[in-house]
Amino acid sequence: MSTYTPPFSSGPTAPAARLAEAEPTSLPKDSAMIIVMRHEASAKEIAEVVARVESRGFRVNISRGEERTIIGVIGDERPVDGTQFEVMDGVEKTVPILKPFKLASREMHPLDSLIPLDGMKVGGNRIAVIAGPCSVESREQILESAFAVKEAGAVALRGGAFKPRSSPYSFQGMGEKGLELLAEAREATGLPIVTEAMSPEQVGLVARYADVIQIGARNMQNYALLNTVGESGRTVLLKRGLSSTIEELLMSAEYILAQGNSRVILCERGIRTFEKYTRNTTDINAIPVIKQLSHLPVILDPSHGTGKWEYVTAVARAGIAAGADGLIVEVHPHPADAMSDGAQSLRPEKFAQLVVEVQRIAQAVGRS
Ligand code: PEP
Ligand code: MN
Repeated sequence: MSTYTPPFSSGPTAPAARLAEAEPTSLPKDSAMIIVMRHEASAKEIAEVVARVESRGFRVNISRGEERTIIGVIGDERPVDGTQFEVMDGVEKTVPILKPFKLASREMHPLDSLIPLDGMKVGGNRIAVIAGPCSVESREQILESAFAVKEAGAVALRGGAFKPRSSPYSFQGMGEKGLELLAEAREATGLPIVTEAMSPEQVGLVARYADVIQIGARNMQNYALLNTVGESGRTVLLKRGLSSTIEELLMSAEYILAQGNSRVILCERGIRTFEKYTRNTTDINAIPVIKQLSHLPVILDPSHGTGKWEYVTAVARAGIAAGADGLIVEVHPHPADAMSDGAQSLRPEKFAQLVVEVQRIAQAVGRS
């Protein structure tokens, strides 16, 4: 009878309760861990550990490095106890993953993930530049854009067929016709296609045309959509939400990875701040932070990050200097006539100049 319970302490309005609810790190701290195998562990020893993890009903994720194999163990609400694995042959140690994102974490996969994109690997030494208009507007516009960005050195063509617009009265995209035009541009130039899906129902259709499915900033926490693109197995470009933390971005990536789709490219596209001279504020910090926390590649979108074409090249340079694995840049043959995001779109000549400048920065930081 000695404990005193202050009024409302456990009610929904108690500040502590609200904080706890908003805090994702309140998940069980040890619901995931890695089992680090010894350098000389045999294939049989590894297989036995995997079998024991599976027999306990946990999910397994195997990461084979040059030095050693790491076996990731993901529990559910049950804590995962490492001692049952530490006694096994070939096991060096177990380490709990304390972060709320598990599959996306660096602990789970110490080496950088390399995501295949039409012969190149995003996340590798070479910087991937994706470019094209905000929206697909016509056959001429997308073909002209595709040839221009290819000529300048882009490795993939972007262009939205389904557009998430702030106003229902703005151009909403060409829909399936836009996807067909993107397929024609791929046929003509050989460039793989990056284009957005806005709802789970659109994923099947978009996946028939797209090499990479973009999840836009406004949909970063659309969990049904994340699950569906996860199931699709197609490469996903996941953009950071307008007001999302880095942890929330990585938790959204976790949804896709948890569906068994490891092909995820993250994108910093600027966040909302009090600043008005630019459309968004490019969070350059996010690049080294994400590279430290996660093995997934991260690219920068300096177009949405600034909202003004004048600043795009400078911020693109900054992103590559900070360690971004690539860029996604809006390019339009006639920005003044663009049906969306003309103010932040580069003309093809300006984009070609951006590529040259970014190449210099890439070389300075040991990339190509
Ligand atoms: C886009 O890429 O054109 C777009 C709508 O981006 P975001 O989702 O980052 O606003
Ligand atoms: Mn746009």
